[in-house]
This record gives sequence, C-alpha cells and structure tokens, in this order.
Amino acid sequence: MNYQMHLFKGAPDDEAIKMIQYYENLALEYDPRGYCVCSSEGKDSRVLGHLYRRAGVKHFYLNNMTGIDPPELVRFQRKNFQEYRDAGYLAYSVKYLRSIWELMLKKKIPPLRTVRYCCAELKERRVQEQGNALLSFGVRKHESRARAQNRDELEIVAFGKKGRNIIMPYDNEENRRTFEVCYANKEKRLNPIVDWYDEYIWDYSRYWNLEQCSLYCEGFTRLGCIGCPMARKAGREREFARWPGYKEKYLRTFERMIEARKAEGRIIYDYARTAQDWFDWWLSDRPTTDKDEAQMVLELSEY
Ligand code: SF4
Repeated sequence: MNYQMHLFKGAPDDEAIKMIQYYENLALEYDPRGYCVCSSEGKDSRVLGHLYRRAGVKHFYLNNMTGIDPPELVRFQRKNFQEYRDAGYLAYSVKYLRSIWELMLKKKIPPLRTVRYCCAELKERRVQEQGNALLSFGVRKHESRARAQNRDELEIVAFGKKGRNIIMPYDNEENRRTFEVCYANKEKRLNPIVDWYDEYIWDYSRYWNLEQCSLYCEGFTRLGCIGCPMARKAGREREFARWPGYKEKYLRTFERMIEARKAEGRIIYDYARTAQDWFDWWLSDRPTTDKDEAQMVLELSEY
C-alpha cells in the first residue's frame, strides 16, 4: 500500500485486514451474521469498523449505550450507525438495564478503580443481539510508542477471584492480546488493532478521510463514560466542566447514597459526610492502594 505513512511500517492496516479475513470462517461458524464489531464510535472503534468494511467480511455492529457517554459521541454514534444500516449492515444500539445512577444507589458506593461494577452492567453485559458471535474490539495496549512493550499474538483472558482483575473489553491494558478467549462465558474476541499506536489511528483516519467525533478537535484524547474512575483527575474535571449536568447528577446520587447509608445504619466515612465531600474524594487522583478505597472494596464484598 503506497501510503505516505512512513509511520505505518509493516502496514498494520493490511495486517489487521488479513487477520480479520483469516478468522472469518470461524466467525461464521459462531454466527451466520459474522463478526460482532463492538463500537462506541470513539476513534479506535471507528477505525476498527472501517477495517471490517474494507476487509469485505460478514459482520454487524453493536453499541452498548451507557447513558453517561458524552452527548456529542452519542449523536456521532447514532449518525454512523444509521449510515451502516443504510449501507446494508445490521447495527444494534442496546440500552442498559439499570442506569449508572440506579447501580450506585444499589451498591451505595461509587464505582472505583478497583471495583468497576458499572462496566459489567453497562459495557460487558451479554445482550441478546450479540448472539454467539465472535466479538471484535478496538482495544489497544499502548497509547503511544513510548509505552510499547513486548507483545504476543494469543492470550487467554484469566479471571481473578471474585471478578477482580478482569480485563474488560474496553480497557486499554498492556496485556491485551490479538485473540482472546474468555473462560467464564466462552466468548472469543478478536482485537485486530491491539498493537496500534495513537499515531496509527490518526494517520489512518486522515488517510481515509474517516470522520472522527468532533470532541477530538476540542482536545479530548479519549472519549468514554463521563466521570469514569479509571480516568485521571484532570480529565474527569475537564469532563465535568464540559458537561456540568452530569456533575449535578453524580452529586444528587452521592446525596441519595448518603441518605440510604444512614437509613441502613451503614458507616458514613469521614470524607463522605456530604455529597460534595464524597464527590471530591472520589475525584481525587488516589493510588489504587488507597486505604479508604480498600475499605470500601471490603465493605462491598461483605454485602
Ligand atoms: S468505562 Fe468506567 S464509568 Fe464506564 S462503565 Fe466502565 S468503569 Fe464504569
């Protein structure tokens, strides 16, 4: 391929397309609709879908609506999914069963880095529309060349005790692999761009004139759930400044969690006496070993 992309050494898009084509028969064995391309329509999954269309393999699209994605991304996803349908592809948008607000009230603890109960419900939940299909994700294990590490082609996803240490499909972790099999539910996952660097995503999008969500032009580098505990404090603050209505919703939910905890006679943590205090604590950039967080994890495991 004669790109001016000197960065594209080894033509990773050709490699990805070959891989997608190679596994197509397997995908068809699992589901006659072919691959299930899981897409939020963020930059990585947008590229992933484009690779599938270029590969000419059977596939369909699935989007898990989280209810806390940025409104601009939601509109972009809806528009793109309609275009995929117009082009003859199946494209499903599936709504959560319980909102993040309902989940927080049920747990009475906000989602934490160490307890991402919301991922399992909002993003990881098996849905009827996916059938038995071989899933494909746009996860990548490094954001930049600087973070590159050795890689393997095949890995089995191992589940930790009590559901911890699970690699969620939307995670970008160093140990993501191209082909993954999840023991817990036998799901198979193909991650064709797992080794791509950020530059590849942007070079590819420019080369193919692939429209990306407008929020990237505002300086956002990663798009996902507003307020996600996995993101850094500065990024979350920026999100709450950009979408203050979501901050209000979180604060209201923290308030209701405090009321519910009092009603049930549960501990009211020192740093969580008011909704604002708890929210500020939650937003602080704590290490994962933080003892307060560890205490909440322990509490959660006891209920
Ligand atoms: S990405 Fe973050 S906020 Fe969204 S569901 Fe997962 S842990 Fe929760």
